[in-house]
Parts: sequence; structure tokens; C-alpha cells
Amino acid sequence: MSDKSFNAFEMAQAQFDHIADLLGLDAATRALLRNPMREYALNIPVRMDDGSFQVFRGFRVQHNDARGPSKGGIRFHPLETIDTVRALSMWMTWKCAVVDIPLGGSKGGVICDPHNLSNREQEGICRGWVRQLARDIGPLRDIPAPDVMTNSQHMLWMLDEYEAIHGAKLPGIITGKPVGMGGSLGRTEATGFGVIYTLREALKELGINPDETVASVQGFGNVAQYAIRLYNKLGGKVICVSCWDQEDSASYTYRKSDGIDIDELLKITDRFGGIDKKKAAEIGYEMLPGDAWIEQDVDILIPAALENQISAKNVNKISQRVKIIAEGANGPTTPEADKVIAERNIFMLPDFLANAGGVTCSYFEQVQSNMNYFWKKDEVLDKLDIIMTSAFRGVSELARKKKLFMRDAAYVIAINRVAQACKDRGWV
Ligand code: NAD
Repeated sequence: MSDKSFNAFEMAQAQFDHIADLLGLDAATRALLRNPMREYALNIPVRMDDGSFQVFRGFRVQHNDARGPSKGGIRFHPLETIDTVRALSMWMTWKCAVVDIPLGGSKGGVICDPHNLSNREQEGICRGWVRQLARDIGPLRDIPAPDVMTNSQHMLWMLDEYEAIHGAKLPGIITGKPVGMGGSLGRTEATGFGVIYTLREALKELGINPDETVASVQGFGNVAQYAIRLYNKLGGKVICVSCWDQEDSASYTYRKSDGIDIDELLKITDRFGGIDKKKAAEIGYEMLPGDAWIEQDVDILIPAALENQISAKNVNKISQRVKIIAEGANGPTTPEADKVIAERNIFMLPDFLANAGGVTCSYFEQVQSNMNYFWKKDEVLDKLDIIMTSAFRGVSELARKKKLFMRDAAYVIAINRVAQACKDRGWV
């Protein structure tokens, strides 16, 4: 979304084609998996606070549901496109499959900028989106969740609208709900923690002690904040974070070479993951250009903001010291950059494995909501750690055995599982 010439769906298809060739998939299975099964484009009319009406464009794409109901977040972004949503829905299919949870993949979005919308206007968008899709989503069909610039409040408005339409309490329709209203403990932490569970295993495999490592992070939203917290707990030091500045319509990297203090930074961070630049300067943070996070002298890079951030343009700026890239964001690395990273033997924790903690915990939330019985936070996070660790080991074992790049190994496992489910159902 950040670069108009970049097409995330073409990138997702190119990644799929590469693995389909590796696996020797037949033409029908390729045709089925290369494109989404269903796509919806919506007009959402909303009465604005000044009494006027504005029509917002929204999307839902259900890529594949052979392994179970489809699942995926909904993003609010001024540059959202159907192709971004298509790509993300495909990645959700692979993500659920690689961690082996019984769900398919979908994604949604609305072209809007919540920074410029009141709560009431955002509520109107949420309810309108659900009204348009009320027959096509559901606890047994397709289950939305929060993503970029949406949160538990948005999910609750959506749940309320869905339940009003269906005349029943159906908390399993949506995940990322507030705790106490059907939400799962641990969901807020899940994606960021999941990134670090896989990072911890990668460090173990490379024989590196986490407390001897230093990392640079792009993004300071939900994923980045919890990833940093757990990484710090393991002993790792983060020296900079990069985030978007709404006022300047630009991104900046905030650096403290002896390590950022997450609690201190959180006090000057807004709910969209933007840092107050004046206050950051006051408490001793150096302010660098937005893309400076990639060229830092660190062991670990954690892109946790947006897609298309490590590309042919900047991959050569990655320091020789970098040993691991842990992709918190979806699609942060382009295939051209991937080639360079593979040649340099940097250990890649690919997005749909590394950030699968979110959907795994969402699956736990669905299970708890459907049972109407809720687990303690430790129980949720322990279950999450088991799933993430086991998925990591499956992928790294295959990568080692077949001498594959980690992203390819993860794709081989995921695409094989989905292709097999389609075959077993008799679809192809
Ligand atoms: P968020 O909205 O909470 O935070 C996004 C962060 O990225 C903010 O700090 C923002 O300032 C920053 N940012 C935006 N544009 C930037 C730019 N050009 N340069 C630098 N920083 C920029 O979002 P999030 O939930 O943390 O999601 C981040 C990424 O992780 C997205 O790619 C999302 O799809 C992916 N993801 C999120 C989850 C989840 O559970 N939240 C799960 C899986 C994947």
C-alpha cells in the first residue's frame, strides 16, 4: 500500500508459482490456489458527524476454506486496494496451514483513514461493513479479526451488528473482542510474542545466546511493542524503532544506541503506534530517516510495520552483522530481496510462520467463545508457544533436510497441506 507500483498480489502469486513448480502441482490445483475462491467489494454509506453522507469502499476476500472456515483480519487504511486484500487472504491460508490449525484464509479492508474519523463515524463503517457481508461471514464460514488500524472496539461494533441481524449471541463470529466480552486473554500479546517464540528457536538452532544480540525494529504498533517486550525479557536489546508520523506524513527512526526503553517510549506513543517526535527528542532519542532502521549494525531485523519494506532498493544496506530477519509484518520482503538474503545466508523467519501467533490465538478465542469457557492467560500463551515452536521445528527441519530457504520450506509445508485438503474433498 505504501508504493503504488508495488502489487502485493502479484508478489503472493509469484511466491505461490515458485513453490507450485517445486512441488510439481497439477494445473487444476494451481488454478484453484492461485486465485481467491470468493471476493466481495462493497459500498458502505456512512452519515458523517456534520450530517453529510460519505461512501467508503470496503472488501472481503476468501481465498480458500478447504481446511476449515476462513479467517483473517480487517484493515482500515487510506491506500487499501483489492490486490493487497487478495494477497493477504492468500497468505492467511498458508499461515493457518503452516501452524496446522483447522482454518482457511481470508482478509478484509476498508479504504479510510481512522485518524480523520470520529469514533461514531468509525462505528458507522464497522456496522456498514457487517451489514453488507452478514450472509457471507459467520462462525462456521468466515471469521474477521483486527489488523492495521482496527482494534477490539471495532470488533465489538461488528459483533453487535452481526448479532442484531441474526437475532442471537454468536461471539464466535469475530475475534479480537475485548476481554470480558468474549475476547481471549493473551490475544494482544499473541502476534508479537509468537514472533519471539520463533526467534528464540532460531537463535537456539544457530547457537546464539539471546542476551548477546541487538535488534532493529520497523513499526511500533501492536506487533512490534509485544515483540520488543518479550525479546527484552529474553535478554535482547532493541536499539531503534521506526514508525509513521501523521503530522509530517513521513516515517522516522528513533534510536538510542544503549537500547530503547519500551515503557518510556509507550508513554509518548499514540494508539496508532506513532511516537511524539518532540517528546522523543526531549528524552534523548536520536531521530533518523524512516528507512534508517534497515541499515543498523545489529544481529536481528524485525520488520513489523507494512509490506514491501525490504526490496531490491535497500536490501544491500543490510549490515553484514545481521544473522536473522524475523518478519512480524505481512509481506515485508520482496522476492528480489529474498534472493539476496538467501545468498547471504541470513536466517529468514518468514511472515506467515513468524506472525502466525495472532491467528493461532484468534483460533483459541474462537474455541473459547464457542465453548463459552475461558482460559487463563498463561494457559493461552503456553498453548501458543507449543504450536509456534512445533511449527518452527517442522519448517526448519524440512529446510535443513532439503536445503531449502526457510520461506520456501514453510510454503512447501503449507501449500502441501492445503492442496491435500482440496484433493481429499474431491475439489481437484
Ligand atoms: P499497528 O497499526 O498497530 O502498527 C503499525 C506500525 O507501523 C505503527 O507503529 C506505524 O506507525 C508503523 N508504520 C506505518 N507505516 C510505516 C512506515 N512507512 N514506516 C515505518 N513505520 C510505519 O499494526 P500491527 O497490528 O502492529 O501490524 C503490523 C504488521 O503486522 C502489519 O503488516 C500486519 O498486517 C501484520 N500483522 C498483524 C497482526 C496482529 O495481530 N496485529 C497479526 C499478523 C500480522
